[in-house]
Amino acid sequence: MAAIVKCPTCQRPVEWVPESVYRPFCSERCRLIDLGAWLTEKHAIPDAAAGSDEDPASDPPHEP
Ligand SMILES: [Zn+2]
Repeated sequence: MAAIVKCPTCQRPVEWVPESVYRPFCSERCRLIDLGAWLTEKHAIPDAAAGSDEDPASDPPHEP
């Protein structure tokens, strides 16, 4: 008996088994879509309130 989860991207039922390598997503495409959406969302968050409290590790320096 395998548990069934819904793909967060397309809501399709996905069997929670080792064979479902992209679980909880139904496919690599849905996984990438969700990851892309998450990254876009993160980048879109205005961080003006935090001022200069940036994380240098996530933004490697590449100035001239
Ligand atoms: Zn899906």
